[in-house]
Amino acid sequence: DQPPRLHRNFVYVSDGDGAVGSPIRVMQWNILAQALGVGVDNFVRCPLEALSWSRRKNLILGEILAYRPHILCLQEVDHYYDTFQPVLASLGYSSHFCPKPWSPCLDVEGNSGPDGCALFFDESRFELLDSVDIRLSAMMIPTNQVAVVTTLRCRSTGRYLCVVATHLKARSGWEWLRSAQGSDLLWHVQNLIRELSGDNSNIEVPLLICGDFNAVPSEEVYRRFATSPLGLDSAYKKLSQDGVSEPEYTTWKIRGTGECCSTLDYIWYTKDTLRVDAVLDMPDEEQIGPDRLPSYSYPSDHLSLVCDFSFREKE
Ligand code: NDP
Ligand code: CA
Repeated sequence: DQPPRLHRNFVYVSDGDGAVGSPIRVMQWNILAQALGVGVDNFVRCPLEALSWSRRKNLILGEILAYRPHILCLQEVDHYYDTFQPVLASLGYSSHFCPKPWSPCLDVEGNSGPDGCALFFDESRFELLDSVDIRLSAMMIPTNQVAVVTTLRCRSTGRYLCVVATHLKARSGWEWLRSAQGSDLLWHVQNLIRELSGDNSNIEVPLLICGDFNAVPSEEVYRRFATSPLGLDSAYKKLSQDGVSEPEYTTWKIRGTGECCSTLDYIWYTKDTLRVDAVLDMPDEEQIGPDRLPSYSYPSDHLSLVCDFSFREKE
């Protein structure tokens, strides 16, 4: 009785020559916290039944299994211990979860605990070196937003890979806070990478920063990432004709307050050390349907971002 999954194709892109190892598939996805979806969001065009956890759980796991990423960054995870950690562990993933300090899920009756960011990696592909949870600060003051930073070593190439999953403050009016949180995250990551490379500043550590930034590309936090000394670029720009534009949307929903169609989610990568090989395209308006997301065919109001990366050859 379930409508088919949204059909999406990989678009193969050219991003220079000289790669080592087989591609690394990365998925970034705000899966929509169960407690927020039923208790806070007010998705007026989505039937309640489509929001039931049993349905959504199957669709979320189905989406992950359809692409089988080696690295999976999720936001709004409020079923880590009872669902994602055990199910994905049985499929060979190791993971880390960082709950938000004051998750809004806790205000919803019948909630399943706080939501947070979770980072999963395929244990057959990567070895864990270190994982840290970061509570993001804004001008020295701790905020309600977090990040998981996991450092891995690729088993076949021996290359390091630092991966970040984060979810910045939502809503308009908070652009300054997102910018401050982004700066704090960049500062933490720079320090971690400096520690990792020791005294040898020539060692460049490939870096992926995946997140729901809650910021459109014209916001200050986007510009901070695009111009950071880390040398980051946003992978989904590769999907555009000109190669420099972000997609038109990564989230599309209708709440009581109106329709919201915007680009808020990103996969940032270090362009000198990683190469984008393929990007999963976005479903078009017709596939998404008139009631937008979530729906019976798709379990979140945010679309998954999936890319294949390769390590660039060292100079
Ligand atoms: P955010 O503003 O970052 O939003 C939290 C979640 O709400 C996000 O997952 C976001 O989803 C979603 N959201 C965004 N816009 C809307 C909308 N229009 N309608 C419904 N949901 C939306 O919140 P904070 O993390 O800063 O937390 C704020 C909340 O946390 C407070 O409202 C309060 O409930 C709770 N809190 C409780 C405290 C306590 O003492 N108990 C202390 C501090 C906070 P997305 O990212 O997809 O847009
Ligand atoms: Ca949300």
